[in-house]
Amino acid sequence: MSEYAKPLPDITESTKPFWEGCKAGKLLLPKCRSCGQMFFFPNHFCPECLSEDVDWIDSSGKGVVHTFTIISRPPSDAFAADVPYVVAVIDLEEGPRMLSNVIGIPPEHVRVGMPVEVVFERVSEEITLPKFRPFDRV
Ligand SMILES: [Zn+2]
Repeated sequence: MSEYAKPLPDITESTKPFWEGCKAGKLLLPKCRSCGQMFFFPNHFCPECLSEDVDWIDSSGKGVVHTFTIISRPPSDAFAADVPYVVAVIDLEEGPRMLSNVIGIPPEHVRVGMPVEVVFERVSEEITLPKFRPFDRV
């Protein structure tokens, strides 16, 4: 198996449950037990009330595109084969916003407000990346 050449996230104690979730095909979001806030980026304390009493909730994995950009110039050689691709901010159903990619459709078809759902892309032993694809609400 060839090495994954793109930069990978560092797994820390704070983010470990999130990455373990992704490996298991779940988008886990931290939720503060003190004030009820769900948040992202994963952390061991709540950005609202600074409580360290944090739980991990299995989110629906659904959301809408808040904003996006189409990358047509690769940030490094490792991304050369991917361009053009979409980097988007996703408004998750549970509230938090997440930076990710929208895949599965031509970049020029991505729209603000488009419903999307998470898909998982395993890129290494440790890392499975959450990405998003269009999702038709019924
Ligand atoms: Zn809190």
